[in-house]
Amino acid sequence: MYALILTACLAAAPDSCAPRLLPAGGAPDAAACEAGAEALSARWLAAHPALTGQGWRCAPLSQVPALDLAEVAPGVHVHRGADAGFTPENRGWIANLGVVVGHDRVAVIDPGGSREQGEALFAAIARLTDLPIGPVILTHPHPDHIAGAEVFVEAGAEIIADARLPEALAARSETWAESIPAQIGAEAWAGTVLVQPDRTIAAPEVLELGGRSLTLTPAPRAHSDADLTVRDDATGALFTGDLVFRGLTPVVDGSLKGWLGWLDAPPQGAPVIPGHGPVAASFAEAAAAQSNYLAGLRDAVRAALDAGLGLSDAVPAVLAAMQPLADHWQDFPATTARNAAAAYAEMEWD
Ligand SMILES: [Zn+2]
Repeated sequence: MYALILTACLAAAPDSCAPRLLPAGGAPDAAACEAGAEALSARWLAAHPALTGQGWRCAPLSQVPALDLAEVAPGVHVHRGADAGFTPENRGWIANLGVVVGHDRVAVIDPGGSREQGEALFAAIARLTDLPIGPVILTHPHPDHIAGAEVFVEAGAEIIADARLPEALAARSETWAESIPAQIGAEAWAGTVLVQPDRTIAAPEVLELGGRSLTLTPAPRAHSDADLTVRDDATGALFTGDLVFRGLTPVVDGSLKGWLGWLDAPPQGAPVIPGHGPVAASFAEAAAAQSNYLAGLRDAVRAALDAGLGLSDAVPAVLAAMQPLADHWQDFPATTARNAAAAYAEMEWD
């Protein structure tokens, strides 16, 4: 298989150029790739005005840098994200991503944290199988999980998400398009466009991949406003998205109470692939530390409210109360301070 690779430079920094893989230009041989390359490159650049082109080439897809995938159950492959928040060093590649290979097609669970990472995931899947890619499932609206989706749109995949995701994404996509390159670097974000899903679901749904199926289950507001889980019915492997964090401090961007409620009646399945952190053999192993953290956050915020503290005094009080947990979590102080403020706002009128 040949890939169309466009050299694209930041319009604002013309020396900053990188290869962009355009999946729509893929072809069985170089001649077929080259035949459509000029027109396709021009169309793509017109749709990505932050970039300018400096030529293209057709090369074997096997030469495109590929993401590392580990098979955690038969046909279930996981890319492990860096256990950290956004930094220039990790380029935003911090979320766990999944690939499930059926007989007829391949599903993707979260397409990556940038255009660049989505391309590397696409290249990794091409090394696993020639099957068509799709559905691509977005576990929730956060860009570290979904910003690579446009690569798969261009590959012809259907993008599926929870029914609440479009609104959540629309509300913040402009902010993210400015704040994330400031955190990971403009080069690492180059070419990234946050795209909306093709289809959404508001109730559990089974997706057939041929010979195996995935069960998608929307969750109440919890980590975010639009979380869903994905279970591979053949192996039981459960992708929780960011409903489960391991190692990286859990981020409360939906509802603390909703999240604790969800944890009280978790979905069945194992191994458990969390949104961040190592794969676990059971849900109890995956979520015990997070449950402890979130219950501690609830109790500390409740104590601050009961003591009559205003928000500006409550945040440091909650941080101090939770300090015994700090060594267990990456990014603890900053994320816990934000979580304290979010939980305070949620619980203030209880
Ligand atoms: Zn998230």
